[in-house]
Amino acid sequence: MEYAYQYEQGPIRPPSEAQSLLLRVTRNCTWNRCHFCTLYKGDSFSVRSVEEIKKDIDGMKATGYYEDCRSAFLQDANSIVIQPSKMAEILRYLKERFPAIDRITTYGRADTLSRIAVEDYKMLKEAGLNRIHSGYESGSDEVLKLIQKGTTKEQEIEAGIRIREAGIQLSVYFMPGVGGKELSEENYRETADVMNRINPDYIRIRTFVPKKGSGIQQLIEEGRFTECTDLEKAIELKHFIENLHPISSRIVSDHIINLLENVKGTLPQDKEKMLEIFEELEGLAPENQRAYQIARRIGLVRGIRDMERLNKEQMQKVLELQRTGEDYGFEAFLRELLRRYI
Ligand code: SF4
Repeated sequence: MEYAYQYEQGPIRPPSEAQSLLLRVTRNCTWNRCHFCTLYKGDSFSVRSVEEIKKDIDGMKATGYYEDCRSAFLQDANSIVIQPSKMAEILRYLKERFPAIDRITTYGRADTLSRIAVEDYKMLKEAGLNRIHSGYESGSDEVLKLIQKGTTKEQEIEAGIRIREAGIQLSVYFMPGVGGKELSEENYRETADVMNRINPDYIRIRTFVPKKGSGIQQLIEEGRFTECTDLEKAIELKHFIENLHPISSRIVSDHIINLLENVKGTLPQDKEKMLEIFEELEGLAPENQRAYQIARRIGLVRGIRDMERLNKEQMQKVLELQRTGEDYGFEAFLRELLRRYI
């Protein structure tokens, strides 16, 4: 007999959770006001009951699809907001029903994370929570205010210290370009300062691209925010990495939106290697930089050296699009290409 139970799933998960069992603990976002984000617009936040969640876990078990799953991700945007005792109960039940799962992760906002006691984090770790992802985006209070993130640098540091003290892995996100040209230096300096104080396990890069219908798009139209060029955002990332010390975080570039996907590695040993990649980009002639940008934005390459592997047809396509882009307005053209991914 076919099993007909329909369990809920939210719209997103980090790319690193592509193979994970996705369990919806809360719906949508507690904040829903970040100027760069349109994900949950029009949807209100709600907490699901423990009974409902356990029913979903049982429903997933009954499908038989998840027996080999080694990891789980608890959705949606800020599920860590629920009472720690309830979260622990969900974690324990999930582990009991799926004993093969050895990694459970979730998202949390810095303001919420900074209010959770170290003892509660320790209880959650004991119950099975191994990693917390948090979209810090920037460590600058000025930038956080501009993008209406609703968090502060102090909360980011406090959250980071507590999570690390409890022994839970911390994966934070940095958004080069989110302060615009006006706050580019402020953005990389202050964010690097936060990272240097908390030494997160992972720093994930999400280059900023304004979404249609977002608050930042409106600021751009009103002349209150000047978007950095594609290359300027990459150089902001270079300066960010230069300012990271003395930490041992792993820099992860797991999104096609980043211009140089091969800028990744573990600090401090891979720092020079990562910085050399930017030097290579800066050393290219302007027309070759633009050809690389096009090839990257249509998904043909991950790094500059990949250009050598393009065949004749692929190279022709890149050059055609480059000409179109130059007629259209190169940055606007790149933005249109990038918007296919966000
Ligand atoms: S970026 Fe995250 S916290 Fe901000 S509105 Fe979107 S989902 Fe919510």
